[in-house]
Amino acid sequence: MDDVDGKPSEEPDADYCCPVCTRRMVRLEDADGALFWLCTGASRGCRVRLKDQQGRPARAYRCGHCGQLLCLRHGKHGKFWGCSQYPDCTQTYDDIDGRPDTGIR
Ligand SMILES: [Zn+2]
Ligand SMILES: [Zn+2]
Repeated sequence: MDDVDGKPSEEPDADYCCPVCTRRMVRLEDADGALFWLCTGASRGCRVRLKDQQGRPARAYRCGHCGQLLCLRHGKHGKFWGCSQYPDCTQTYDDIDGRPDTGIR
């Protein structure tokens, strides 16, 4: 059984790795029955949790400053990508067709 934040997972899935720490991701269901992906490094401080998109973890983008994940936010001037570690990390990127403009294409 996989260790998921101290509890064994009922759904082993070797195919998807955490974009931040490269440990495996497991698919879980929250109290509302919505599926999501949790990093098996959660008990070791990794806070990565991704939405489920047709059975796969949603595409994730990493902050070029601290390496944690970016979140799409809606600001006064439209959509932009901010670091999930805000306010510890204030890195932001413009949104280009649903992707952060990190300079990497
Ligand atoms: Zn992780
Ligand atoms: Zn950051």
